[in-house]
Amino acid sequence: MKLCNEYINTRINEEAFSIEQTYFVKTDRRVNPKEMEPYRFFQGNIPILITAPHAVRHMRKKKIKPSDQFTGAIAVVLHNKTGAYCLATTKLYGGDPAVDKPCIFKEKIREIVIKHGIKFVIDIHGASSERPFDVDVGTMRGKSFGEKSKFVEEIINCFHQNDIKKITFDNFPALKQFTITRFVVDEMNCPGIQLEINRKYRAHQNLNAFAQLMASLTSVVNYLTKE
Ligand SMILES: [Zn+2]
Repeated sequence: MKLCNEYINTRINEEAFSIEQTYFVKTDRRVNPKEMEPYRFFQGNIPILITAPHAVRHMRKKKIKPSDQFTGAIAVVLHNKTGAYCLATTKLYGGDPAVDKPCIFKEKIREIVIKHGIKFVIDIHGASSERPFDVDVGTMRGKSFGEKSKFVEEIINCFHQNDIKKITFDNFPALKQFTITRFVVDEMNCPGIQLEINRKYRAHQNLNAFAQLMASLTSVVNYLTKE
């Protein structure tokens, strides 16, 4: 809980709120991705990539879908705290990076993974507060995290240490659609996971819950870095 207390004392929720307001503006205004990059890349110094493909509104089957609120801020704060690379959507551009093939966001991931020797990708999403889990880890039914034998145990530990108890696996296996996880695992031979985070832990108004989440995610990145 030490890190969690540090995040509470430094008011990590305020840092996240200001990032959300700066980069992840929720609007129906659409940009042409040929004229403007609809994502933002944050340079890191450890070979882990955090993605937030639903940080802003996106389009699926010609319909505008709401953002996974606060997932952009979570990804950028995690980058600030750990030195992981980060890629998050910042503009509505007509596509859905968690589904599309071909996909400009996935092509950017391909470039980052190759150029920076990325060893693991964490893809961050939001689940509604009605879901029966705190965090669901999508692993393509165990295939996506490669040969890390203690992986499941370790991930559960990272959350449990910060009092986040209901960790489930593969409610969202990241298999149905052409997810970021499927893309990096199947096409790039790079391990990864998809995290679906319950709304309860994504509310910046609740400093304690948000600090618990960020301390857990920091531990997950640190574990993956030393593996
Ligand atoms: Zn999502």
